[in-house]
Amino acid sequence: MKVILASPRGFCAGVNMAIESLDLALQAFGAPVYVYHEIVHNKYVVTTFKEKGAIFIDDLNEAPEGSTLLFSAHGVSPEIRQMAKDRKLFAIDATCPLVTKVHLEAIRFAKQHYTIFLIGHEGHDEVIGTMGEAPEAIILVESAEDVPNLQVADGSKLAYLTQTTLSVDDANRIIGALKQRFPQVIGPPKEDICYATQNRQEAVRILATEADLVLVLGSQNSSNSQRLKELARESGTKGYLLDGASDLKPEWFEGVETVLVTAGASAPEEVVQECLDYLVENHGAQITPHSIREEQVHFPLPRELREKALPKA
Ligand code: SF4
Repeated sequence: MKVILASPRGFCAGVNMAIESLDLALQAFGAPVYVYHEIVHNKYVVTTFKEKGAIFIDDLNEAPEGSTLLFSAHGVSPEIRQMAKDRKLFAIDATCPLVTKVHLEAIRFAKQHYTIFLIGHEGHDEVIGTMGEAPEAIILVESAEDVPNLQVADGSKLAYLTQTTLSVDDANRIIGALKQRFPQVIGPPKEDICYATQNRQEAVRILATEADLVLVLGSQNSSNSQRLKELARESGTKGYLLDGASDLKPEWFEGVETVLVTAGASAPEEVVQECLDYLVENHGAQITPHSIREEQVHFPLPRELREKALPKA
């Protein structure tokens, strides 16, 4: 069996920064460190951090007053920031700067009295956080089919923003539908779907055509990982999303000669390697890495950690 190992895959700069932040917070301030929502949407990462003393919470009241709290890479609404202040929590903000960029765009458009269509998935942590910046100004749009039913009080000032981890093709379809119905709608100066999402999708789009099966390492609640699986299937190749080698099913490999392996932006390289080891041991896989693009993106650690957990330069 031939295995094409896609690159770029796996951790993006935002996830690297969030994970490094939590590691450093645990070392510098000791366990427990409370984390609002999953640090990133990945089972392996969350389980590993639980073992190190992180406590994942969905309600800030679960963090005792004065304790250390970390906001995950997906960002939070101003209401949650205020609650953390009120509860005197030491909050470390590990929001990905590319998510913060979307928050700032939402604030700017709302201040200029625009109605904002936020293209994204209802209930996703990032969408909840972004909508919280200007709840009265933002309307969530999940699909092109939603567009004919959108109600806007004043059609003269309309803008759209997108979640960072969408399918580029889906987002373009929805933006196209918005522009058709509201030709005056404007977008952000630079698109919101992040570089990591775009690169991982591009790799699958290019390489899936050479494969009979696409394996995407990532968790079911990871938006960008789900999009990679969908993209594989749209290109006519069988595609599955799995947390690790133990999820592999023998029937997936029937008649398969070439497998493309990739990973969502929140999936660690450990689970990719575990999957590759399985394919080598059980299918005699020959692995060929294939990179479509180099990534050189790094984000600095949150200010709170630079000030309080790192030695002064
Ligand atoms: Fe940031 Fe993109 Fe990674 Fe999300 S997927 S954490 S937006 S770099």
